[in-house]
Amino acid sequence: MTQAASVVSAKDLCLTYQADDAPVQALTNVNLDVRKGDFVSFIGPSGCGKTTFLRVIADLEKKTSGEITVNGMTPEEARKARAYGYVFQAPALYPWRTIEKNIALPLEIMGYSSVDQKKRIAGALDLVNLSGFEKKFPWQLSGGMQQRASIARALAFDADLLLMDEPFGALDEIVRDHLNEELLKLWARTNKTICFVTHSIPEAVYLSTKIVVMSPRPGRVTDIIDSTLPRERPLDIRETPEFLEIAHRVRDGLRAGHSYEH
Ligand code: ADP
Ligand code: MG
Repeated sequence: MTQAASVVSAKDLCLTYQADDAPVQALTNVNLDVRKGDFVSFIGPSGCGKTTFLRVIADLEKKTSGEITVNGMTPEEARKARAYGYVFQAPALYPWRTIEKNIALPLEIMGYSSVDQKKRIAGALDLVNLSGFEKKFPWQLSGGMQQRASIARALAFDADLLLMDEPFGALDEIVRDHLNEELLKLWARTNKTICFVTHSIPEAVYLSTKIVVMSPRPGRVTDIIDSTLPRERPLDIRETPEFLEIAHRVRDGLRAGHSYEH
């Protein structure tokens, strides 16, 4: 029973890239359990293996050793079962396609009927508050709106798991705050499981039910923090003692990883 609720489970997961000069240990003995409905953030400096971990979940990279399951399956089986939507750091929208045509692309590939496509596009745009922008081209939208469109594209085929790699990293803080609030609402409405990569401590603490602190050379997990914050979170929760306490622990974890290098 407990097994069924586990969306991502990693046991002693290792991945070493065979680079030309020397092998790179991108992930070393990662142990992590992501449960259904969790919002898990991965935080750590560049090169600590955050993107690599998402790519292993998505079957875009193969583990070197250890175990990883996605919805109880191998990553390859999960990919074939369309287990996840993936949101990249840059919106990666095709400039020659309208917003609706961009969102339709994966649906076309999956062979949805045009009626079904329209329904799913409308639903996904509604979830990210972009209804009415179907016929616009990406370059007619602000950076924040483009990123919302790429989230809509990842939501359109209704996978239960959303993988997001620094989706708001390139946006200014005000837009990011707004999108963080929106993302929490979307998460509450859809009950999805989210794996979210970020560089920002406030963003990680604000969004997450679980925070995975990582450290580079070799890439590894230094702390896993289960958040004590309620699921309902107004932005000003960031000034509460509970919030600051968790932020403090994240900072400590990041610092512990740093001292390892010296
Ligand atoms: P992050 O997303 O945390 O910045 P990455 O997962 O992208 O980190 O990278 C982890 C480590 O693996 C880094 O040292 C990076 O240079 C290395 N790396 C990533 N992809 C490759 C690759 N395809 N070949 C060789 N090394 C790689
Ligand atoms: Mg990365």
